[in-house]
Amino acid sequence: MANVPEIFGSRVFNQQVMKKMLTSKVYKALKHTMEDGTPLNLDAANQIAEAMKNWAIANGATHYTHWFQPLTGITAEKHDSFLTPAPEGKIIMSFSGKELIKGEPDASSFPNGGKRSTFEARGYTVWDPTSYPFIKDHSLCIPTAFCSYNGEALDKKTPLLRSMETLNEQALRVLKLFGNNAKHVTTTMGPEQEYFLVDEKLYQKRKDLKMTGRTLFGAKPVKGQEMDDQYFAAIKPRVIEYMEELNTELWKLGIYSKTEHNEAAPAQHEMAPIFTTSNLAADQNQLTMEIMKKVARRHGLICLLHEKPFEGVNGSGKHNNWSIATDKGENLFAPGNTPNENAQFLLFLTAVIKAVDDNQDLLRCCVASAGNDHRLGAHEAPPAIMSIYVGDELEAILEAIKEGTEYGAKGKSKMSIGVDVLPNIPKDSTDRNRTSPFAFTGNRFEFRSVGSALSISGPNTTLNAILADALKQFADELEKSSNFEEDLNKLVKREITAHWRILFNGNGYDEAWVKEAEDRGLINYRTTPDAMAHYMDPKNVKLYTEMGIYTESEMQSHFDIKLEKYCQVLNIEVGTMLEMVNKDIIPAAFKYMNVLADTEFKMQRVFSLCDAGLNMMKKLNDLINELHIKAEELSSMHEKVKTINSILEKSKNYADSILPQMERVREVADSIEVLLGEEYKPFPSYEDLLFSVQ
Ligand code: ADP
Ligand code: MG
Repeated sequence: MANVPEIFGSRVFNQQVMKKMLTSKVYKALKHTMEDGTPLNLDAANQIAEAMKNWAIANGATHYTHWFQPLTGITAEKHDSFLTPAPEGKIIMSFSGKELIKGEPDASSFPNGGKRSTFEARGYTVWDPTSYPFIKDHSLCIPTAFCSYNGEALDKKTPLLRSMETLNEQALRVLKLFGNNAKHVTTTMGPEQEYFLVDEKLYQKRKDLKMTGRTLFGAKPVKGQEMDDQYFAAIKPRVIEYMEELNTELWKLGIYSKTEHNEAAPAQHEMAPIFTTSNLAADQNQLTMEIMKKVARRHGLICLLHEKPFEGVNGSGKHNNWSIATDKGENLFAPGNTPNENAQFLLFLTAVIKAVDDNQDLLRCCVASAGNDHRLGAHEAPPAIMSIYVGDELEAILEAIKEGTEYGAKGKSKMSIGVDVLPNIPKDSTDRNRTSPFAFTGNRFEFRSVGSALSISGPNTTLNAILADALKQFADELEKSSNFEEDLNKLVKREITAHWRILFNGNGYDEAWVKEAEDRGLINYRTTPDAMAHYMDPKNVKLYTEMGIYTESEMQSHFDIKLEKYCQVLNIEVGTMLEMVNKDIIPAAFKYMNVLADTEFKMQRVFSLCDAGLNMMKKLNDLINELHIKAEELSSMHEKVKTINSILEKSKNYADSILPQMERVREVADSIEVLLGEEYKPFPSYEDLLFSVQ
């Protein structure tokens, strides 16, 4: 058994190590830099670099890398060894402050949405001292931001840091109005990461899993998740071994891996860490996904992070638990005990309600991807429609504020914010509705639309940005007020009334909700291109630029990159699908037909006819013909779509015509699969994949 306190953070250059390895003067300077961004002088940077290098070498590292998060959504690294030539053919191991602070990777192949031409491709990476360096394999990894020479963000970290800063500014303005003297607020994040585990040997036989991360074919197994016997069930030995090693690896990297359990679908599991500041949580979640995959291989397993690897059972998400805390440790999304604390909480709650309602489109955009589209709206994941679940108690309180009516049975008069104490909100009552995309869970919001494979930087940047915008509007108004309490009451009542439509405590998986949401005027963008078509709307450009989160050209590049990626994913899926039809499924079906025909021929010599054999051949023959025709149709439709120039048009075509045709192809192929004898099946079935890891 691992000695957890001993190994925890052993691969991290954390504060404890810093304290030990740096002079107290340099340690203090670094702490200032970490806490309020005070620039470091070169002498201090040199000393820090030297300490980092010595610590890294003592822990087996030979290289260092600036570790960053380009817009691909995964992490990038380019390793340099500490090695420097010295006289007499010797070497010394060196690492300078300059090398620590800034790097210049040749980054011409990263997507940049046309922001840099190849000839000026050099972006640069800048050390982010708020996230600890760590050792991975033989390299010291230094978390960095990645920018172009004119300062535009080419990564996902920079905007997240900007959004945290902007939210800090606006939240402090609001807190000041309540006499709250917090000096700083930070957003916190706890991402619950869902994943599937499949046997590597089976995986290798599935072109679709290998090339696209999801199954493009597969008849439903006789048993799926309908028995509800997987959720929280005892974990199988092979999976436990995996989880144990995963935990150990994560703990070494200072990641607070806390909860592990089986999820609803067979072969589906979850890991939830203890929350931390958003920036660190985002870095750590990227690392977690990488380690999850790596450790799986050591156990002969493959970890699938795709949002919908299997049709007919639940897909995987990444519940994004989000809150704001002050430097004094006060959680601003937690109802308080005094009228003043409650008033402050209600204003922040109102700001979230307004932010989500005003920016449904941006929230949908920030979780949009080809993979996640299969999950949102599949009657098992939060729908593509944004709404907020606040629980019955809180909704009743909000309703009383809106209507100016009495709340509760205890003879209480009308709620006057800032005067009355909020009635107790039982914690467990806020976490009942698992179908809501955005749920208040007692002291935080849980944004559940985030896909399992997605970087959480984007969604958290959006959450922080839209909340900062709402708080700004409130602060602008209330700072001018001469009667704060009265104007606060008016504002909260007005805003709750204006955004009442976004509150929904019912079943988000229900088809009736789609209709009701439409009646309420809520947005339902089912696909990535539907959502992204609104990304550059003037309202959104205004919000992001005014809040200092993205420039318009950065947004334009997100738009291009997201849709390009969407088309690339679909392009690969279509290619893989056609290959599997032509190379795996049809040949397997013919092989089986051949046996049937052979048998039939022989049987006819003995008997007159074999009805069963003839029927099966006929059925199979019809299906093979149909599959062939549908696949040809898909192929020619795809050729046409490939020639479309506009990226939006092209992605729309993929969404609206290619995907449905892929479904048709799949349907026929799946009908063939169930007819084939076990030894003739072209690749491992759903049953094999979902139930083989014991
Ligand atoms: P559930 O599955 O019921 O939602 P979990 O325990 O699996 O609960 O996950 C809850 C997540 O919320 C954890 O990652 C936890 O650390 C995180 N969390 C708790 N409080 C906060 C907070 N104030 N800010 C951000 N995340 C939080
Ligand atoms: Mg949760």
